[in-house]
Amino acid sequence: MAPTHIRREDPAPGVARIVLARPQTRNAQSPELLYQLDAAFAEATTDNRVKVIVLAADGPDFSSGHDLKAGFELPCAPVATMQAGLGAPGAEGHYAFECEAFLGLCKRWRDIPKPTIAQAQGRTIAGGLMLLWPMDIIVAAQDATFSDPVTAFGVNGVEYFTHAWELGARKAKEILYTGRALSAAEAREVGMVNHVVEAAALEEFTTELAVTVAGRPEFGLRLAKESVNRSLDAQGQSTAMDSAIALHNLGHANNLARYGQILDPTGAEIIRAGAAPRQVRDR
Ligand code: ZN
Repeated sequence: MAPTHIRREDPAPGVARIVLARPQTRNAQSPELLYQLDAAFAEATTDNRVKVIVLAADGPDFSSGHDLKAGFELPCAPVATMQAGLGAPGAEGHYAFECEAFLGLCKRWRDIPKPTIAQAQGRTIAGGLMLLWPMDIIVAAQDATFSDPVTAFGVNGVEYFTHAWELGARKAKEILYTGRALSAAEAREVGMVNHVVEAAALEEFTTELAVTVAGRPEFGLRLAKESVNRSLDAQGQSTAMDSAIALHNLGHANNLARYGQILDPTGAEIIRAGAAPRQVRDR
């Protein structure tokens, strides 16, 4: 079936660009979008003409996060994990869903055996980070911002919990505690983003970077990627993520028990109130 939320482009020899094409929802992630994205990654990975994969997004924002209206049912059989309890009521079914469709897919994408480069413009909020952080290199437009405000909903942070690696432990805690957005410049400063470029130059810059990478021998690139990823694992990144998704789902279970839904219902109000009046600034 032709994908409806994802578009594949071939901007240069050896480069595949996969585009989130749901700008009317700011590229909110429905399960359909996630599994169409997975299928596009899988196709580009097995396509021998493709040496580098670029992830881009249509519209003013990279991604507004999970599409909460789309529900939590898999659109196909699990591809990332072996799960029991999918579709079960309560915390059991939701935990199984998140382990497969959120953490499972993201870990699979982090280990795509080809270099991956993301280009981000506008806002990337919470679940949006789950699409960005598994990529190898991130290029941001000057207007890009990154936030994970979900402690307002009574959970720890986005399900792909690599905050301490992306931001450093101290900055990670500040961002999670305040919910405030990180600017592109701040993201580059802490090493979360490789380059910040003018919005109009985002696509061209990213494609040129991809072409440069694609000019090197494939096997060397694959060995380099695996070596860096295994270094992260040696630091405990994968185990830390497994622990964080369990705590994240303890938060969901607590909300289910207290409010009958997976998110604290006061969360949206807390986020709205925090967005406007009092940004913390250096003085
Ligand atoms: Zn969750």
